[in-house]
Amino acid sequence: MDYSGRLRRLLASLAEHRLDLLLVTHLPNIRYLCGFSGSAGALLIGERGATLFTDGRYRTQAQEEVTGAKIVIGRKAPFLAAGERLAGSAGGGGKIVLGFEAESMSVSMQARLAALLRSRVKLRPAPPLVERLRMVKDAEEIRLIRRAVEMGAGLFAIALKKIRPGTKEVEVAAAMEYQARRAGAEGMSFPTIIAAGKRSAVVHGHASSAAIPARGFVVCDFGVILAGYCSDRTRTVHVGRPSSQARQMYGSVLEAQQAAIAAVGPGVNAADVDFAARKILRKNNLARYFTHSTGHGLGLEIHEAPRLAAAQRQELEPGMVVTIEPGAYIPGRLGVRIEDVVVVTPSGREVLTPTDKELIVVE
Ligand code: ZN
Ligand code: ZN
Repeated sequence: MDYSGRLRRLLASLAEHRLDLLLVTHLPNIRYLCGFSGSAGALLIGERGATLFTDGRYRTQAQEEVTGAKIVIGRKAPFLAAGERLAGSAGGGGKIVLGFEAESMSVSMQARLAALLRSRVKLRPAPPLVERLRMVKDAEEIRLIRRAVEMGAGLFAIALKKIRPGTKEVEVAAAMEYQARRAGAEGMSFPTIIAAGKRSAVVHGHASSAAIPARGFVVCDFGVILAGYCSDRTRTVHVGRPSSQARQMYGSVLEAQQAAIAAVGPGVNAADVDFAARKILRKNNLARYFTHSTGHGLGLEIHEAPRLAAAQRQELEPGMVVTIEPGAYIPGRLGVRIEDVVVVTPSGREVLTPTDKELIVVE
């Protein structure tokens, strides 16, 4: 991974925002900047370099993983160890401005840090600078995401074998997750969603102990983490003969999904991709049942920037990786979602997920 290039770009954006230093406390950002994947850490970055603060549990792991940053093993919470180091080295006068990540710094953490630094260092919430860098993936990251997507996509075959009337949703999820671990996944990107029958209308219907009914949709939304990177895929199948309403709904969601994929490209506004999906569903009187955004970025986290939603003004750039996942959910009755992972290329887009999306009927 190009850790030195990432640090260089981050330093340039610190200067732009008039920050002398940045205290990175969001763990995926730390991993992105120096490779450390432990669960306790703070990374202090400035002109004089990067220093990772962690604790004794991670001594060996930090030595193995970290590139381009000094490692300090402390006894205190890592953000306090970083603050102490800074308080010790800073002169008086409060001329140094330390940016912190507001999203991952609690009010009490901030108060403790401020008490430690007193007037020597000015604390200021920083914009999401690392998240902005992470939006555009390099070739190595895209290779890893591609591998995660391929492995994750393979789990759908397991789901298809298990989905039968009477089988519990959790049994389907368990078979998929067992296969993922056997194939080398570090874990699942999120709790596997298997939502059958009426539950298909529950947008985040985590697999429950409910049995799959004799007739109805089954929404399967799942992903794996491989080498730190997430995959995310949704397929909806129908158990028993679908009604004409069910067929029509599936067809509309598929058409919306394809329209949104076709809208992805460099220079396109995130909101326009969302609009492309919504327009098709509106034509089919399903717009009011599409209750979430059209997609999200993914990478080291399952949900990251950019979001593809009506209010988003982010322009898409080559190297961004997003999901396209419109759906329609009629509460208490039925729901459909179809989701693929798409990378923005210089000339348009590439769909990383295998593309077969015709309605599968399980008899
Ligand atoms: Zn998903
Ligand atoms: Zn998703």
